[in-house]
Amino acid sequence: MARLIKGIESKLIHGGEPEPLIEGAVTTPIFQSSTFESAGAKSYHDLRYIRLNNTPNHVVLHRKLAALENAEAALVTGSGMAAISATLLTVLGARGHLLAQNCLYGGTYDLLTNDFRELGYEVDFINADEPVSWREMVRQDTRAIYVETISNPLLQVPDLEAAVDFARRNGLVSIIDNTFASPINFRPAELGFDLSIHSATKYLNGHTDIVAGAVIGRAELIERITRKLNHLGGSLDPHACFLLSRGMKTLAVRLRYQNESALKIARFLEQHPAVAKVNYPGLEGHINHLRACDLFDGFGGVLSLELAGGVEAAENFIAHATIPISAPSLGGIETLMTRPATTSHAGMSAADRAAAGIGDGLIRLSIGLETTDDLIEDFERAL
Ligand code: PLP
Repeated sequence: MARLIKGIESKLIHGGEPEPLIEGAVTTPIFQSSTFESAGAKSYHDLRYIRLNNTPNHVVLHRKLAALENAEAALVTGSGMAAISATLLTVLGARGHLLAQNCLYGGTYDLLTNDFRELGYEVDFINADEPVSWREMVRQDTRAIYVETISNPLLQVPDLEAAVDFARRNGLVSIIDNTFASPINFRPAELGFDLSIHSATKYLNGHTDIVAGAVIGRAELIERITRKLNHLGGSLDPHACFLLSRGMKTLAVRLRYQNESALKIARFLEQHPAVAKVNYPGLEGHINHLRACDLFDGFGGVLSLELAGGVEAAENFIAHATIPISAPSLGGIETLMTRPATTSHAGMSAADRAAAGIGDGLIRLSIGLETTDDLIEDFERAL
């Protein structure tokens, strides 16, 4: 009888795993073989070869990721940026126009404003909170709308229902970077998104030891993106696939702890006199709090803050906090903190950062799995 797998926790552990187990191995072994014996493949893309994203380690992840977001199909990639670039190159085709949220992860923003513009793609940035302003930006050649579930680093929550609806009415592909929420807090396919992207480097893997990406969504689109990635070459190595599978098994317990811990820390910081502003969608005062409550099962482990003393105070805070490690990236088991103006968003010009509301003194905190009270005490002392 097939295994009963309904809840997301069960899917994380057993979803997509081989049945029957390979040689009885409880953990799917690493298939560290670049190529596999021919078995009558009819197309190039069906030959079994690591770059073609179809070793047993890839297949397990594809099935598991699709199951987690209740989507039709999925693909793992060599990094979050490989997922983003392969997806957009597929969906935009020859020089299609893109509508993208105006506050994005810095690497995505750079890709769109430098590399894609160099290739001839045109991108217009939208205020993701004002759907009425989108209509006039649609062109004959617009192919897609691109948003982030919770934006990096300001933690804004776009009008996601409007994005799906707008895409449907205008024949666009709706794409969302779901890295910050993870499938535990939000599953984009359930709202009607065509494609959900992850930097699996972050929450999905959770252990700060690999770089990986994923695209999850409609089967027909995933097949086209897979073929593009097969040619571009941004595949995930089987050993990294194994680590990602292992990391994902604990996603639910990690994320729920991080949801809870980040909310407590955001509440503590919010009332501290040295703190000018805290951005966290779980706070009642956050501009998108009600929307976040409607759409999400939790608010995630990332928050950002501005100190009353500006850049100097921010640097002092980072220097004096003893638990967090000052490093870019997020979503791991260790608390990390960084000033996005000097790391994740350093590629944006100062003017673009200012226009997006990313101050030089902004600090981004990714809450790990340490004891919440230890973190609060540490922040209290550092402030
Ligand atoms: N999307 C978001 C929201 C990110 O924060 C990042 C990296 O920080 C990426 C995509 C890119 O992912 P990767 O570093 O795995 O290529």
